[in-house]
Amino acid sequence: MKLTFYGGAGEVGRSCILINSDKTRVLFDAGVKLGRTIEHPKIPAELIRSLDAIFVSHAHLDHIGYLPHLFSAGFKGSVYVTKPTLELGNVVVNDYMRISEPKDVTKEGLSLMQKSFKVCEFKDEIKVGDMTFSFIPSGHIVGSSMITADDGKHRLIYSGDFFLSHTKLLEGADTRNLHANTLIIESTYGGKDNIFPSESVIAGNMMKSIKETILAGGKIIIPSFAVGRAEEILLLLDDYMNSGLIPKVDIYVDGMISKAMRIHRHNVIYCRKELQRRTLSGARILRMLRERTRGAR
Ligand SMILES: [Zn+2]
Repeated sequence: MKLTFYGGAGEVGRSCILINSDKTRVLFDAGVKLGRTIEHPKIPAELIRSLDAIFVSHAHLDHIGYLPHLFSAGFKGSVYVTKPTLELGNVVVNDYMRISEPKDVTKEGLSLMQKSFKVCEFKDEIKVGDMTFSFIPSGHIVGSSMITADDGKHRLIYSGDFFLSHTKLLEGADTRNLHANTLIIESTYGGKDNIFPSESVIAGNMMKSIKETILAGGKIIIPSFAVGRAEEILLLLDDYMNSGLIPKVDIYVDGMISKAMRIHRHNVIYCRKELQRRTLSGARILRMLRERTRGAR
């Protein structure tokens, strides 16, 4: 098994790793790097046409945004994803296409991409050529995965973006029985200076400031990433409102968040057990996302 990094090594963004055996060539992730300009993985054109498959760890643009470019450049293989990654990926990639209008992406490429997704469940054994792959929950956003590769002689784990503790939405990464000869691990925020206050301290400070603003008759605007963070913040607001720690007020959402929330509701089975139980038992946690939050437009 050989590894080649075409992006995401020594930088944040455009994650893209080639895994190849004698007979099989597969990419783990195909991201773009967003900034003043959009940077792509540095993959040779002839390699793109010879790839067998792509496995996408999760639906953030730095892991999935390069797919339309690859299909427009001659990639003809399958893209393996979990169901939430497919649904959220479509939302974020469409938004990326609308905003950036990349000149190298063709209508034919986009249409071929839509036909090439293969949806997998966590822990399924997926055979491509002479290798076997699987997705394992990574606790980062709904549907996010670590990816394993095994060629019979060597086993690799790629962590993708991961989170070990549970959040309001998700269980932490499933690290039971993980073993490998090689581990590729995400290390953004892994530096010795990356020490953050605990979640309860951050949430407490945020809610204190929200309460003060509401009581003073003000309005609160919270900018947030649409996939993952926005849902966490909404659940946090709902918990604080239910427990009476902040006053109950209407919450309005705008942008991609409405679509992302709908996808979370449809995929609650992939969320934390506690959230599933509360949803099934009629608690208003996810109902809230439908009823009390309204698009601002
Ligand atoms: Zn991510």
